[in-house]
Amino acid sequence: MADQLAVETQLDAQALAGLVEMLRGPVLTAEDPGYDDARSIWNALIDRRPALIVQCSGAADVVDAVNFAREQGLTLSIKAGGHNVAGNAVNDGGIVLDLSQMRGVTVDPAARTVRVQGGATWGDCDRETQLFGLAVPGGVVSTTGVAGLTLHGGLGHLRRKHGLSIDSLLSVDIVTADGRFQRASATENEDLFWAVRGAGSNFGVVTSFEFRAHEVGPTVFVGATFYPQEDAPTILPAWRDFMAEAPEELSSLAICWSIPPHEPFPPELHGTPIVAVAAAYCGSVEEGERVVQPLRELAEPVVDASGPWPWLGLQSGFDAIFAKGELRYWKSRALGELSGEAIGDIIDFAGRRPSPLTDIVIWHHGGAMTRVGETDTAYAGRDAQFLVTAEANWTDPAQNEEAISWARAVWDAMERHSTGGVYLNFPGLGEEEEALARAGYGVNFERLAALKAKYDPDNLFRMNINIPPAR
Ligand SMILES: Cc1cc2nc3c(=O)[nH]c(=O)nc-3n(C[C@H](O)[C@H](O)[C@H](O)COP(=O)(O)OP(=O)(O)OC[C@H]3O[C@@H](n4cnc5c(N)ncnc54)[C@H](O)[C@@H]3O)c2cc1C
Repeated sequence: MADQLAVETQLDAQALAGLVEMLRGPVLTAEDPGYDDARSIWNALIDRRPALIVQCSGAADVVDAVNFAREQGLTLSIKAGGHNVAGNAVNDGGIVLDLSQMRGVTVDPAARTVRVQGGATWGDCDRETQLFGLAVPGGVVSTTGVAGLTLHGGLGHLRRKHGLSIDSLLSVDIVTADGRFQRASATENEDLFWAVRGAGSNFGVVTSFEFRAHEVGPTVFVGATFYPQEDAPTILPAWRDFMAEAPEELSSLAICWSIPPHEPFPPELHGTPIVAVAAAYCGSVEEGERVVQPLRELAEPVVDASGPWPWLGLQSGFDAIFAKGELRYWKSRALGELSGEAIGDIIDFAGRRPSPLTDIVIWHHGGAMTRVGETDTAYAGRDAQFLVTAEANWTDPAQNEEAISWARAVWDAMERHSTGGVYLNFPGLGEEEEALARAGYGVNFERLAALKAKYDPDNLFRMNINIPPAR
């Protein structure tokens, strides 16, 4: 097999044979039945054909594959959950380290810590932690990879109570560009640990994460109230003002959208333009119901699905709506405040969405997120109170240009309201390259560039929002 691979990929046959011999996981090429599945990612806009896909079975496979990629001069991508909208998990003609076989999760209930392998999803993590009434702050869709989401921050329903995903990160095991397996934490390789918390995909392949877990669930009170979109001019300011005084246990989003064509929404309402107020209360169900109640009375709702939800149900509640196979282009801006002018622009663009699947999400921040200093981790922009994300989702490739232009126009319009910051997990296609990295990392950019020169001077890990090594 190695000879055939070598001819197809013009690789050193002996080196490739050596790699295949050493690995415990399979190596896939275009000839293999699992190849198309392994190269596919969540965003159907991306269709890339790597020469090799190494399905690593553990850290030793990762070490060998990293050494092979470096020695052979191959473009290297790392694929965990495959949700990155820019498609950085895959490349054309290079090697992909597919971590989907490394999804183990081990909980230490006494210490309240969790070790999660580099290819696990948030669904994997939630399922195991909930066995002990625990949870790690992750994202709001269970199919998203723990790795990609955590390595650039990590926003979810626990953000105001427990911070970003990186704020609960205790250590990582990481294979750096020189092929060394290292641990990074507050006491080992501290500079690497600092960099990983916000810029992780630039510094190596994280084979496992150790998180602090928190008591959550098994049932939480969820606000999920859908109002007519024409009420947005009153709902959005009222939501903003309410959240300014809300307890940290409450994390909330407002979404300008259309009712999704899915259960539990009645078919006659599918496609109705709405503004949804979503909220999760991390505390007692009774207290949550009391706190959330005013958000359910901002106008006459179209649908109100608020109530006690299982934590696992909340975490997977959006899965069917954000399924694999749609076309996506998501881009974000951080806002210091949500002014009336910003709300006006959001409402204007919400009325011109190219598809009912497309939405604008306003994430409200604050609480624990802001208690970590701006330079304490590589993640920057903690002072922003809101994040506005234009999420273009569509299904017809004929609409590619229209959908992308709409999302970019929202992004452009938000610039005048923004702090200048962006969230790098919603990067569009990363077209702005270094300028986007500078906007995302803010005051931390220069230190990151210096650390990149130390840990990855030849920029082996460049399929990401790239930080060029300082010269
Ligand atoms: C449906 C959907 C829902 C989302 N919801 C949220 C949300 O609630 N909150 C939020 O903050 N973000 C959310 N995101 C954005 C998400 O955080 C990013 O897309 C993130 O990159 C996904 O991580 P992944 O592991 O699934 O992706 P991948 O595409 O596999 O990887 C993303 C990036 O990380 C790198 N990477 C992957 N694994 C490793 C590793 N083990 N070591 C080093 N680098 C690695 C990859 O090379 C790539 O550059 C969502 C995205 C989608 C599509």
